[in-house]
Amino acid sequence: MNRGQLRPRSATNAGNQILNEGDHHTSRCRTGLRVLTFATLLVAAGCGESAGPGSTPGRKLVVTTTTMIADLARQIAGPDLEVVGIMKPGTDPHIYDPTPQDSIWVRKPDLVLVNGLHLEGRRLDMIAGAGQKAVELGRQPGIRTRASAAAAAPDPHVWWNPRYFMLFAEGVRDAFIRLDPARADAYRTRAADYLARLQAADRQAAAAIETIAVPRRYMITSHDAFYYYGEAYGLHVDAVLGISTDAQARADDPDRLARLAAERGIPAVFHETSVSAAQNHLVDLVQKLAREKYGHEIRTAGPLYSDSLGPPGSEADTYLGAFRANSRMIVQALGGQWPPPTATGTAPGAP
Ligand SMILES: [Zn+2]
Repeated sequence: MNRGQLRPRSATNAGNQILNEGDHHTSRCRTGLRVLTFATLLVAAGCGESAGPGSTPGRKLVVTTTTMIADLARQIAGPDLEVVGIMKPGTDPHIYDPTPQDSIWVRKPDLVLVNGLHLEGRRLDMIAGAGQKAVELGRQPGIRTRASAAAAAPDPHVWWNPRYFMLFAEGVRDAFIRLDPARADAYRTRAADYLARLQAADRQAAAAIETIAVPRRYMITSHDAFYYYGEAYGLHVDAVLGISTDAQARADDPDRLARLAAERGIPAVFHETSVSAAQNHLVDLVQKLAREKYGHEIRTAGPLYSDSLGPPGSEADTYLGAFRANSRMIVQALGGQWPPPTATGTAPGAP
């Protein structure tokens, strides 16, 4: 298998944004100023009145950022904790800014779960960094992040490698046990069940991607959210945008990717859900250039769920649902077989 043998894709075009973010590591004064600004925003919003939905007395309050982490927390919390996710489906976490609706913060959450690695933007990085109660799941031991040569922060999209999401799950389980030791057994049981489901989804994806012809194991997407997914399964990943949706595309990238698609016979390029129409349009430009300049027909597939789950009631309203939907779209678009042949019950490389 080609696991892990991916060409490093350093998204240099994300460099500016991430370098800018890096400054809050070094300036306590500026960080303090931003905390004050955020507090002012909360006061100005007149929050702090009602406790909000689901605030059953006695249950501790867990606040999460991304929709993936909210789902994970609910899977393991069951009815024992109140989980409030502050990002809605479709939210782009890279450019997320707290709004008055986020008045949940004044209820003083007992625990805050964030992706971290600078995914959530400056204010949330700051909130996470400000208190002992925050757990930055992207920094769980065992997660090997991809550094970017031009950036001060690593690629934050670690959750689409389900083996890394298993580490998220273990981190959430352990945080819940520390928070509420009386119910430790319940958290352990739910986490074990959820980990088994993640393992099954991982094996299924690995077996399906094995059915894609090797030269076609190449994903071209709008922003670079799938490097860790690709790393897990031996898929190359390339994007017209860098790691963050806040970056500018390099002018030569659509042409470079169109030529590459033609050379390798790549049959599809992918849209994503949590980027702007203009950003997905860059993927359409790859398709157009491939046809007009290189005589290679290519189709648009997706949209893939990148930085957010789907809306409630959709097939992708949970992490596992979104992961399977993404895997199906990728495998089918690149000419593989979904569902994978059952004969490959033990997928190569599966844990
Ligand atoms: Zn992203």
